[in-house]
Amino acid sequence: MKEHYMKNLSEHLSHRAFRTVGRAADELGLEAYVVGGYVRDIFLNRPSKDADFVTVGSGIELARKVAELIAEETGRKPRVAVYANYGTAQLRDGDLELEFVGARKESYHRESRNPIVEDGTLEDDQQRRDFTINAMAICVNAERFGELVDPFDGIADIESKSIRTPLDPDVTFSDDPLRMMRAIRFASQLGFFIVPETFNAIRRNRKRIEIITKERINDELSKIIRSPRPSVGFKLLDMSGLLELIFPELCELKGVETQEGRGHKDNFLHTLKVLDNVAEKTDDEWIRWAALLHDIAKPRVKRYDPKLGWTFHNHNFIGEKMIPKLFRKMKLPLNEKMKFVAKLVGLHMRPQSVADDGVSDSGVRRLITDAGDDIEALMLLCEADITSKIPEKVKRQLEGFSRLRVRMDEINAADNYRKWKNPVDGNEIMERYHIPGSKVIATIKESIKEAIMEGEIENNHDAALNYADQLALSLRDEIEALGGNLDAISIAN
Ligand code: ATP
Ligand code: MG
Repeated sequence: MKEHYMKNLSEHLSHRAFRTVGRAADELGLEAYVVGGYVRDIFLNRPSKDADFVTVGSGIELARKVAELIAEETGRKPRVAVYANYGTAQLRDGDLELEFVGARKESYHRESRNPIVEDGTLEDDQQRRDFTINAMAICVNAERFGELVDPFDGIADIESKSIRTPLDPDVTFSDDPLRMMRAIRFASQLGFFIVPETFNAIRRNRKRIEIITKERINDELSKIIRSPRPSVGFKLLDMSGLLELIFPELCELKGVETQEGRGHKDNFLHTLKVLDNVAEKTDDEWIRWAALLHDIAKPRVKRYDPKLGWTFHNHNFIGEKMIPKLFRKMKLPLNEKMKFVAKLVGLHMRPQSVADDGVSDSGVRRLITDAGDDIEALMLLCEADITSKIPEKVKRQLEGFSRLRVRMDEINAADNYRKWKNPVDGNEIMERYHIPGSKVIATIKESIKEAIMEGEIENNHDAALNYADQLALSLRDEIEALGGNLDAISIAN
């Protein structure tokens, strides 16, 4: 493979921009290289939309020149975003995002997150990169266009699927401890292996992760979660000792306790299995988060009961309540994504219990109403949650879910419970019985919902209002105490 690519690399830089950058560098008398992820992804056949360029000189100057040449070639000058503090500049050319930086040498002080950055050679710049597979460069100057510069034999590591630091791993990881998570992320994302020397250094340096901001950690966590088999990343995080530091709640799921000879399943391994199962069905990051967190409360509610064995009562509801706190602590987004995750965690036992209760109409209606448009996501999670090793049990659960799906379709086709809203709203009740806003209104609305869900009355406005009137009559004393009156409806009844 090496020879093949050495000869043909220019073919892999077919986007016009690469020639343009080379021309700009030639005119300025600078060397310029595509580096890092873009080069790696050529060998991995992963198309990428960002190209990073390093020049031995000023990245900003090169970017400005590139913009001028693009203007000559196309008649339209791209906007150059300059980040003077970092010495970097960015511009877009068609579908490619180009970033420019001068070759750098970095030295770090142990207690500081901020490196001292000096100008350096291409080799200096390659040395400060995280892994050999990310430290390759391809020259774009016209004379050397397509020439690979690979001082750490990144090609060999691509071929053997190895994650290895270019320098002594203790140096690489201590300079920027986030690289430990990046190693694990690449292993999970690309299906690569971290070489033992590098992995052992992650174990040794794990404590240093504490100087990294939660935002940077979350970027990597999110890439692990979105990888094809996220369990790979989480197992590595666990084995390296990083998980305990960045996500202790997951570590608490680990292990099996035994009493009177009865054990429970290892909830950590179970969770990872569910996560992988979900990942096979959907790329949606937030359904995957829900899978990762669906049993998060189990350690807190775990009890041993001599009659029942191990129980985890209400772990779904407690888990739902834990989500906002956990998201706040981890600086994950506190928005509708969080609410979605919490909702799925809270509801994840429901489809099973509706199925176990023989898919009653009322159970199905309640489930659809409570899940709303998230019902598909919920079903996906629950089906993924079947991890039993007993084939008859798996079969029974899957059959239960497929009966449930059929019943849900039928019931939802008759009446769209996904979008269910109480047919009678609070204002109407207040006006009708001349009462101010009060608890009675909630009571009436709740009773209407119950009656509809139970199938006691039809799901429409007339039936609901008629039912409300009956209720109001039975609550006459309470309503009159609030200054209301039922004159209008008393006559009719
Ligand atoms: P992806 O874009 O899929 O996240 P990438 O490897 O392209 O992966 P970027 O964050 O885009 O990652 O970084 C581009 C390149 O910059 C990397 O390939 C690597 O050479 C270098 N790099 C990025 N982050 C670090 C870091 N923390 N330490 C050292 N080098 C890094
Ligand atoms: Mg990138």
